[in-house]
Amino acid sequence: MRPLLLLFDIDGTLLQRASVEHAQALLEAAAQVHELSPLADTAVSPAGRTDLAIAREVLARAGVPAAQIDARSAALQAATVAAYERLCPPDLSAKLAPGMAELLEALSARPQSFRLSLLTGNLEAVARRKLAAAGVAHHFADGQGAFGSDAESRDELPAVARARAGGWPRSRTVVIGDTPRDIDCARADGLRVAAVATGPYPLEALADADAVVDGARALQPILEDWASGASAG
Ligand SMILES: [Mg+2]
Repeated sequence: MRPLLLLFDIDGTLLQRASVEHAQALLEAAAQVHELSPLADTAVSPAGRTDLAIAREVLARAGVPAAQIDARSAALQAATVAAYERLCPPDLSAKLAPGMAELLEALSARPQSFRLSLLTGNLEAVARRKLAAAGVAHHFADGQGAFGSDAESRDELPAVARARAGGWPRSRTVVIGDTPRDIDCARADGLRVAAVATGPYPLEALADADAVVDGARALQPILEDWASGASAG
């Protein structure tokens, strides 16, 4: 049987409270590229959303027309990556979710059962920088995964990640995330999803997932079960 392709979310799933500098980079870049005075992190809720979707809402609230947001999207992405390079803390390893480093090691050691990949709203360069600072980048191959730089809608990302894996089948692909938006994007592509309540949402808010757990340690038996061919429960 084919390995199970695991599409890990980053913020709230692999890492906790590691997005402060990232949010700052996005806001700085948005203000710079659109020639605005410094932007505050208004009432925009970032959990589960892509960087470009967050930026669009912040900019729309600041009165920037949609056509201008679209026209400067590439510039905004480049400026965000540059700002994050400057702002990213040198060591984010303390921000790994409890048990996550061990889970990634255990899964990576079994390539016949698991193939590790990413599905995140972070721009790719930001995602890879963040994971490098956390010391877990080696688990996630270049050229694989799906990122906020691939699409503004998270719902489009699972298909991107499966395509990059060489057309991985839906039945052998799992989304792992911490928000209802992770669950929604999995359903949009017809995938199973395991939710971890290590981000801003409690267990009961994630009940629509195929499995909901309180942390990384509880994920392993579920993934083992699914890798061995058990159907969604
Ligand atoms: Mg998340």
